[in-house]
Amino acid sequence: MNHDIPEELRKLQDLARHYVERELRPHEAEVDRTKNMPHDLYARLRKKSLEVGLFGYNLPVEVGGPGIPWLGQVLLREQLGHVSQAMADTVGRPPKALLACQGEQRQRYLEPVLRAEMTWAFALTEPEAGSDAGAMRTRATKTDGGWKLNGTKQFISHGDSADVVIVIAKTDDGLPTAFLVERGTKGFSVGRVHPKMGWNGYPVAELRFEDAFVSDAQVLGKPGDGLRLGLSQIGEARMGVAAHCVGMAQRAFDYVLEHARVRKQFGQALASFQGLQWMLAEMALDIEQSRALLYATARTLDLAKSPGDVRMEVSMAKLSASEMVGRVADRAVQIMGGAGYMAESPIEMIYRDARAFRIGEGTSEIQKNQIARSLLG
Ligand SMILES: Cc1cc2nc3c(=O)[nH]c(=O)nc-3n(C[C@H](O)[C@H](O)[C@H](O)COP(=O)(O)OP(=O)(O)OC[C@H]3O[C@@H](n4cnc5c(N)ncnc54)[C@H](O)[C@@H]3O)c2cc1C
Repeated sequence: MNHDIPEELRKLQDLARHYVERELRPHEAEVDRTKNMPHDLYARLRKKSLEVGLFGYNLPVEVGGPGIPWLGQVLLREQLGHVSQAMADTVGRPPKALLACQGEQRQRYLEPVLRAEMTWAFALTEPEAGSDAGAMRTRATKTDGGWKLNGTKQFISHGDSADVVIVIAKTDDGLPTAFLVERGTKGFSVGRVHPKMGWNGYPVAELRFEDAFVSDAQVLGKPGDGLRLGLSQIGEARMGVAAHCVGMAQRAFDYVLEHARVRKQFGQALASFQGLQWMLAEMALDIEQSRALLYATARTLDLAKSPGDVRMEVSMAKLSASEMVGRVADRAVQIMGGAGYMAESPIEMIYRDARAFRIGEGTSEIQKNQIARSLLG
């Protein structure tokens, strides 16, 4: 398919492709098998991605980022989808909410984050507030010189190790507000690290706040800005998921296409069986449809006055790609037979990793709600 990709974005795509092959793929199987991303490997790869110019690829030029257009960002992230979520994540994508850092916050948080020296997490989800983020119970109570946080967050990516956590909590007057909470803050502790289906080597944790004190200087933006700041990155996160899913699906497809050509049963290649040919045809169609929608959405974002104008298309791209990768991964396992179920090829890992993308950054149902809301007003 000719998507008429400009030359400079092709180069970016090639850079990401080679980086995945050279720097990330060699560690993938070990990290997945041991479910552990060694701290020094994580730090080294983040620095490496900074050196080659991939770290912070989502950032605008105003803060020293490369200002890559949306189309370039999705091309790049699609290539990162050719490796496990844990490995892809080492190419850091700082949360846009941090761009709201003001004054001293810039030196203390934003700048070290941009130098890949400080790690972060974003904590919105709670036991009683998932899709319905507005139902959050974490409270921020005003006290002398700052705030006391009380509550529990769950499913927080890198919550167990992040140097700074952007925590969304409601103030006494019910305004969701973002706080920059540093690791080691008294009253802030990590609860359980959730055991999970996939994304091995990418920890997701529960966070507890018991009278955790944060100063006024640790409020990000203004009181009441919390959900807006959280949502300021949702479009980017959803496009990232969509791109990642297209890359994952392509990887699974390429792998099983080769397997179907090589593996023989009943004296002939699997690829000669029409039942499997149709599966392959449907997988290829599925991937191309999601990719075309993804690229079209990226181009629409590049032309839009505000990302908010493209909310419906972004939800469509995320919904389409995350559902698609589930179907493709399932068929990939089937075409591999027993070998697809064994953790000896990337297919088993892709099958596990794919499942989370229909849940994180807004479930498939929430994307449909968004699409319907945009259609119906
Ligand atoms: C791997 C992983 C990493 C994550 N990382 C983070 C993180 O870093 N920070 C963070 O804050 N959160 C994170 N999350 C949490 C994630 O954002 C939530 O899981 C997600 O928003 C869904 O919330 P929930 O799990 O509470 O499900 P629920 O909201 O309880 O939903 C359960 C089911 O009900 C459906 N449902 C809910 N409301 C509606 C509705 N109105 N209409 C139709 N159906 C509905 C959902 O679609 C879903 O099928 C992560 C999750 C995962 C899986």
